[in-house]
Amino acid sequence: MKDVNQQWILAKRPIGFPEIDTWEVKNSEIPKPSSGEMLLKHLYVSIDPAMRGWMNKGKSYIEPIEIGAVMRAGVIAEVMEVGDGAPFQKGDILTGWNGVQQYSITNGKGWQKIPSSQLPLPYYLGALGMTGLTAYFGLLEVGKAKEGDVVLVSAAAGAVGSVVCQIAKIKGCKVIGIAGGKAKCDYLINELNIDKALDYKAENFLRELRVSCADGIDVYFDNVGGEILDAALTLLKRHARIVICGAISQYNNDKKIKGPNNYMSLLVNRATMQGMVVFDYKEKYPSALSEMGKWVKEGKLKSEFTIIEGIENFYKAFKTLFSGEKQGKLVLKVN
Ligand code: NAP
Repeated sequence: MKDVNQQWILAKRPIGFPEIDTWEVKNSEIPKPSSGEMLLKHLYVSIDPAMRGWMNKGKSYIEPIEIGAVMRAGVIAEVMEVGDGAPFQKGDILTGWNGVQQYSITNGKGWQKIPSSQLPLPYYLGALGMTGLTAYFGLLEVGKAKEGDVVLVSAAAGAVGSVVCQIAKIKGCKVIGIAGGKAKCDYLINELNIDKALDYKAENFLRELRVSCADGIDVYFDNVGGEILDAALTLLKRHARIVICGAISQYNNDKKIKGPNNYMSLLVNRATMQGMVVFDYKEKYPSALSEMGKWVKEGKLKSEFTIIEGIENFYKAFKTLFSGEKQGKLVLKVN
């Protein structure tokens, strides 16, 4: 059978949790590069909670995906063919943003070459990609975490959260992670060596959280919003910092997001709550990646993955983000 380029196209704007008909699956011809361009074979597609927000209409930190456009996603791709004067060579492995499809054309703008290394390629979507950068700048620049701080992290066994936990340990913080289920909590304690892991699905969660944070928290790294953010607000030390990285518990609401109830705790504790978007730190990516690369080499920073095979399984992968049936960085292998 002739090879085709399977593409997932945004067909409509979802309300609430996206059904499968939010996308149209198109099998197109593999495109040909013109001069200055390259044909890329996508190897891995990054599956991110932010995808849900990009489908919504309205003002955000990035333009919404157009109806009829390929679903936006970060990818790792191999250069297959090069037109005259193209900026990369056949065989180079790159990272960039050409979405949920198996092949694409680029002129190379906005793409970075992945250095040859022993690391599995998905590392460059995980700890050494956008995920790791989000954790690094969120924790250190916005959270201003420093030695001795108590750092609370939600979705702690996820892609960003697991890197936040490890960087906080490297920096000498006491780390308390929140995750769904015993297996994830065991992973946080046994593999990432954090100080305490709490299962937010357990009946006694709020009590356990209060007891574990009895002396207060200096940083709350928030990936989930909702009730956990509300609970964290009651645990702040004076001058605490809350990093609003994401609010996955709210992304599929079909009603408006309800704001945090306990925000007066910011006043009482002279605390701050600040949103962050990783793209704002572009100029500092090289130095952050060099520091994180060193931690990876020294075995201090690990990236764990859940890899789902086959572009036809994009919807299954997308749903997995919200069901929590995965650990670490979620990646779709598409070629
Ligand atoms: P992730 O944590 O790998 O995956 C999402 C995890 O969220 C799931 O595994 C699940 O883990 C948890 N979750 C799902 N529904 C939940 C709910 N209702 N309540 C509590 N937890 C829930 O995803 P990620 O890529 O690392 O992203 C984490 C957060 O960072 C997201 O909010 C994302 O939008 C945000 N983000 C922000 C930026 C930025 O620049 N601001 C960049 C990247 C990501 P459990 O099994 O533990 O429930």
